[in-house]
Amino acid sequence: MVRILVSDRLDEEGLEILRREGFEVDVKLNLPADQLREAVKDYDVLLVRGRTKVTREVLEASDKLKLVVRAGIGLDNIDLEAARQRGVRVENTPEAVSSAVAELTIALMLAVARRLPEADRTVKGGGWSKEKFLGLELRGKTLGIIGLGRIGCEVAKICRAMEMRVIFYDVVDRDEWAEKYGCEPVASLEKLLAEADIVSIHVPLTSSTYHMIGRRELSLMKPGAILINTSRGAIVDEQALLEALKEGRLGGVGLDVYEEEPPKSRELLSLPNVVCTPHIGAQTKEAQKAASIAAARKVIEFFRGGAG
Ligand code: NAD
Repeated sequence: MVRILVSDRLDEEGLEILRREGFEVDVKLNLPADQLREAVKDYDVLLVRGRTKVTREVLEASDKLKLVVRAGIGLDNIDLEAARQRGVRVENTPEAVSSAVAELTIALMLAVARRLPEADRTVKGGGWSKEKFLGLELRGKTLGIIGLGRIGCEVAKICRAMEMRVIFYDVVDRDEWAEKYGCEPVASLEKLLAEADIVSIHVPLTSSTYHMIGRRELSLMKPGAILINTSRGAIVDEQALLEALKEGRLGGVGLDVYEEEPPKSRELLSLPNVVCTPHIGAQTKEAQKAASIAAARKVIEFFRGGAG
């Protein structure tokens, strides 16, 4: 019987599909690295979200492991090179969570532009200072999307409906999507940063996107511009971001992701124009259910060639 180890919390629906299909499914959450290395020896499949670190040591600990499925997007918690060398297939379910992340991106844009967390705290604390909350409208503003992939397109679609101009920068040709979603390509990241009132990051974390937004890039942004990052923390140099905010060059920042999670830099988090969420982009009932079902389908496809 095919044995599956689930080491991150997954919606039950996908696990039920696997059990119904005759797979043996064991859920063992929050295993320390040494226990994970030990546990993985007995399983054909490792089913994770972003929490479990599927390191070379984990992959090399098992001769039985054939498949790692990451429910959701982003494979940066998996050592892909080690998996390739060990002949372990790696799959993910990127399509399942795109709209959840896009909606959080929009929520952060609005929260920063209208200073919602601070306004909420003011009213709940008995205050009523309207003058303090002179916000910005998104309508008519230029949004610059870095990475017009699945999530970037969802964000573009919503922002176009809000009558924003949407420009984007991508390393691959996205003409078809650009036309479909009404976005204009720009030739370089520098051009995007100089033109956008709001910059939203939607690239994966790779060696070429690590600290893609650093001191130089932040200095190219329009004075008062807003930066949103719901992608991966390390794409932005947090120290440079803190400096840009302290110098008053940026209007505000919305962050769902951090270089280190949970984030250690209290100084960045304590600034009034920084709105933070705890990496909850994909954290909706709908997305979690969809990711779990899609992950189950990947396992079934792998072992049964798509049957079931
Ligand atoms: P995707 O692969 O569909 O799109 C990524 C786009 O970025 C592609 O069009 C790609 O060509 C482009 N790109 C890659 N490198 C680039 C570079 N150096 N410069 C410009 N463009 C570049 O991915 P997606 O499904 O849209 O997801 C994007 C990212 O969102 C994921 O990689 C993940 O890190 C993040 N994410 C976050 C959460 C969350 O909870 N906050 C949830 C899911 C995904």
